[in-house]
Amino acid sequence: MIPLQKNTEAVRQRRLKIRATTAERLQGSTPDAEILIETFVEAREDGLPPDEALEHAWDAIPESRHPGDIASDIHDWDLVNVRELGALLAELDNACSDRGDHADNWIDHSSLPSAEIPEDIDTAYPVWAMDQDDDCLVEWGASGCSVSSLEDIRDAQHGDDCTCEYCD
Ligand SMILES: [Zn+2]
Repeated sequence: MIPLQKNTEAVRQRRLKIRATTAERLQGSTPDAEILIETFVEAREDGLPPDEALEHAWDAIPESRHPGDIASDIHDWDLVNVRELGALLAELDNACSDRGDHADNWIDHSSLPSAEIPEDIDTAYPVWAMDQDDDCLVEWGASGCSVSSLEDIRDAQHGDDCTCEYCD
């Protein structure tokens, strides 16, 4: 058996390292290819070897998940717990601000997935979405989301003295 030359072994090790790093970093997310490639090319032009240039490029990518991945989770929300939707919306806002992007570029806030909201409810209240237990998403943010029951929202919108078919 012919022993590998030293530089060939070094190249092989470098490729293995790149492959392992890439597999690890790619888990569960789509990287920002643009940031990755630009930083990689710049680092190579600055004379870094490929493995170090790639490491450098990975580090340039924001820690937060890619907005496209989060938008896809929002689209696929299962209607079970509206707090999960609120958390995803907050995560999307955060990922977008990390990138100088805006959540509106990824989702249409006026048509979020939702259980059917009864027609007497004014969604400008605002009720962004409702889950299968009639819990409604009212607001979301970095410190958590605000959720109200459909009943509470109806009381607030119709008033105590309302005698409509929904309030009886
Ligand atoms: Zn009413």
